[in-house]
Amino acid sequence: MIKDLTDAKIFKCPRCGKPISFEGNPYRPFCSKKCKMMDLAAWFREEYQISSPMEPEDELFELEVPKD
Ligand SMILES: [Zn+2]
Repeated sequence: MIKDLTDAKIFKCPRCGKPISFEGNPYRPFCSKKCKMMDLAAWFREEYQISSPMEPEDELFELEVPKD
C-alpha cells in the first residue's frame, strides 16, 4: 500500500551519498550493512585517537568526597 509520499523519508547515505529511504531499512542512516560497518570502523579509529585519560580523574574526585 502506498502511503503519502512525504511520509517516505528519502535521504542520502552519509557514507556513499546514495539516496535511500528510511522505511524498511535496517541499516539506516546508511544504505547497506557495508556502509554501516565502514562508518563504524572509521568511528572506532577516531575514538582511539581522541581517547584521553579523563575518566580516572572522575574516579579520584569521587574518592575525595569527605566523610563526616
Ligand atoms: Zn551507502
